[in-house]
Amino acid sequence: MPDIKLNSPLQFLKGVGPRKAEILARCGMHTVQDLLAYYPRLYLDRTNVVPIGKVKIDEYATIIGEVKAHGILYGKRRRYEVILQDDTGAISLLWFQGIRYWERLFKKGQKFAATGVVGYFMGTQMVHPDLERLDEDSDRMVHAGRIIPVYPQTAELNKVGLSSKGMRKLTSYVFDNLKEKLPDYVPEVEYTGYGLPSYHEAVAGIHYPDSREQIETCRRRLSFDELLKLQFFVYRNKGKKAAIVKTHRYLKPGEKLTWIKKMLPFELTPAQKKAVREIFTDLQKEHPMSRLLHGDVGCGKTVVAVLAALYAAENNLQCSFMAPTEILAEQHYRNWKKPLEDVGVRVGLVTSSLKTARKKKTAEWCADGQLDILFGTHALIYDYITFKRLGLVIIDEQHRFGVEQRGKLYAKGDNPDLLVMTATPIPRTLTLTLYGDLDVTTIDTLPPGRKPVQTVWRTSDALPQVYNFIADEIKKGGQVYIIYPLIEKSELLELGNVEEAYRELARTVFKDYRVALVHGRIKAKERDDILKRFREGATDILLSTTVIEVGIDNPNATVMIVENAERFGLAQLHQLRGRVGRGDKPAKVIAIAHKPISEIGRKRLEFFASENDGFKIAEADLMLRGPGEIFGVRQSGLPELKTADLWRDRDLLEGVRLLLENIYTNYNTLDNKYLKLYNYLKTRAAGLDLNLGGG
Ligand code: ADP
Ligand code: MG
Repeated sequence: MPDIKLNSPLQFLKGVGPRKAEILARCGMHTVQDLLAYYPRLYLDRTNVVPIGKVKIDEYATIIGEVKAHGILYGKRRRYEVILQDDTGAISLLWFQGIRYWERLFKKGQKFAATGVVGYFMGTQMVHPDLERLDEDSDRMVHAGRIIPVYPQTAELNKVGLSSKGMRKLTSYVFDNLKEKLPDYVPEVEYTGYGLPSYHEAVAGIHYPDSREQIETCRRRLSFDELLKLQFFVYRNKGKKAAIVKTHRYLKPGEKLTWIKKMLPFELTPAQKKAVREIFTDLQKEHPMSRLLHGDVGCGKTVVAVLAALYAAENNLQCSFMAPTEILAEQHYRNWKKPLEDVGVRVGLVTSSLKTARKKKTAEWCADGQLDILFGTHALIYDYITFKRLGLVIIDEQHRFGVEQRGKLYAKGDNPDLLVMTATPIPRTLTLTLYGDLDVTTIDTLPPGRKPVQTVWRTSDALPQVYNFIADEIKKGGQVYIIYPLIEKSELLELGNVEEAYRELARTVFKDYRVALVHGRIKAKERDDILKRFREGATDILLSTTVIEVGIDNPNATVMIVENAERFGLAQLHQLRGRVGRGDKPAKVIAIAHKPISEIGRKRLEFFASENDGFKIAEADLMLRGPGEIFGVRQSGLPELKTADLWRDRDLLEGVRLLLENIYTNYNTLDNKYLKLYNYLKTRAAGLDLNLGGG
C-alpha cells in the first residue's frame, strides 16, 4: 500500500512519472494537495444531457452525440468544425484555436459529450465547448445514472493521457490511498450552521459526488472558504491604509468653493451635497481617504469630484483626474476649464494623442506646481508626468483601469487621498466585498427635472416603423444614436455591424439626413471631431458601437436605437441608455432584438424596458451574468473566485463578514480555534495570495 500524504509530490504517484509531473506542474499542480484543488469543471449525468434537437439558443447545455463529420473550414478565420449528431438532430462544434490538435482527435463515429453555450449561425452551434470523449466506460456510467466529473482540459494534459478520464483515475487513486485528511481551518460551528460539510468531505464530494445536491453543498463549503479568504484579503488592505498619516492638512473650505457653487448653472441635489460633505470630511482627516463614489448613470458624480479637486487646489495641493477615454477626459477638461480658471485654479489636459510639444509643456508645468488640476487619460500614469505635490487622485470609471494603472497613478503622490468612481451603481453585496477597503458614498437620486427615459423593445420586423419614427424625431429637432454590436462583418457572429449599416442607411432610408459613423478603430482625433459635430447639432444620426457608452453628453440627443440588443448585458444597456434623456426633452430608447431570441434574452429585454433604476438593473445583471465581467473582478486585483458566486452565495458572504468582524473585535480573547483560523488566513494573505488554492 502506498503511503500518500497531502504534500507528496505528484511525480512519484503510481502512473505519473516525470513527464506527466512536468505537465501537471505547469498547470499549477505539484503536490497531492494541489491535485485535489483541481476541481471538475462540470458533471455529466442523465439529468443534464439535452437531446441535440432540443437545445435552446443562448442556454448552457450538455449534449451527447456521434461525430458525423469533421474538418477545417477556411474563411477569414480558419476554424475546425465537428458535426455531432444524435437521434434528434445535429449541431456544429467550432474551434478557432488548436486546429492541428483537434484534427488528430476526432474520428467519425466516436462518441462525445460537449458542454457549452448554444449559439446560432445558420444552425445551432457551440464555440469552444468543453469536450469529453465517451468511451464504453463513461457511456455506461452516464446511462447507469452515475455522475461523471469532467476536468478542465488542455491539449497538453490530453497529450500525456491526463484527459478527464485520466484525471478521474488519478484523483480516485489518491483518495483511495490518502493517509490523512485535508485540514480544516474553519471552526465546525461556523459551517454546520449552513448545513455544510467539513473541508475534507467537501473536496471529496466535489470530485466524486453521488448526487446533484451533494455537488451544491460541497461547492458551497468551498465557496465559504474562498469568500473568507477574499474578505480577509480586502480587510487587510483596509487596516494598512488606516495606519498612514498624511503630510498635508486641509483648512476649512474657502471662497473659491463658494464662488464656483454660485457659478454652477444648477443647484446641487441633496444627495450631491451629502456626497460633497462626506468627501470633504474625509479630506480633512489625518489618514488618506479611500472612497468610492457611485450612483446611477447621470446622477452627477463629476461635479462632486470637481469640487473635491477644487478643495484640494484651495489647499495648495494638486489633483490628477483620470478618465478611461480621450473623449471623456477632454469633455471633463472642456466643461470645467473656464469655471475653474475663473476662480483662479489652473487646469491642464494630457492624453496620448496631443502633440508632443504640448504634452512636454504640460508635464513641465505640472512638475513645478503651476497646474492645480490635471485631467487626462491613462497617459497620466506615464513616467514623464510628475507632480510637485499631488494630494488627490480621482479615477473616473475606475473599473476600466487595471489595479496596476491605478497603483501607478497613486504612487505619484505621497499618500494622496483617493476618490474612485464607477459608471453604474454597484449592488451592496459587491461594494462590501470588492470594495470593502473603500468607504462608500452613494448618490441615490437624479438631478431634478429628469424625465425617465421611455424604453421599449421590438423585434427587427419593426425596423421600418422605427426608421419612420427616427425621421419624425429629427424633423422635430431631435438627434438620434443607433448602436451596433460590431464594427465590421464577422464570420463568427451573425450580428449587425456599424460599417455596413452606415453604407446602407446613409444612401437609402436616411439619405436626406446627416448621418455620421463612429467606432473605436477610428483615430481619436477624428472620432472627437465626429462627436463634436454631433454635439453641436451638425449631425442628425450617429451610428456607433459602444464607444459612446461612457460619459458622452449631448442633451439634444433624444432617441437611441440599440441593434441586437439581445446581445448586450443589462448593465451595458442601461449605461447606453444613459446617453439620452440628458436634456429637458422626453427621450426614448428602442431596443431591437434579432431572431432567434432566447428565453433569457427576452427576459433581459423585458426587464430592461420595465426598469429605469440603475441599482435594480445592477442587481439583476449580477444575478444573470455573474460579477466577473460586469465589475471587473478580474482587474480589481482581488483573488479570482473558483467556486463562489457572489450573488448566489450572498448569505455566506454575510456570514463570513460577521465571522471576520468577530475575530477582529475579540482578537485579544480569541478562542484557540479562531486564532488558528486567523493565523492561517494571515499567512495565506501575506504572500499576496492571488491564487486561491483549495487548501
Ligand atoms: P455621471 O454621474 O453619470 O458621471 P455626470 O456627472 O456626467 O453624471 O452628470 C450628468 C449631467 O447632469 C451633466 O450634464 C451635469 O451637468 C448634470 N448635472 C449634474 N448635477 C446636476 C444638478 N444638481 N442639477 C442639474 N443638472 C445636474
Ligand atoms: Mg461620469
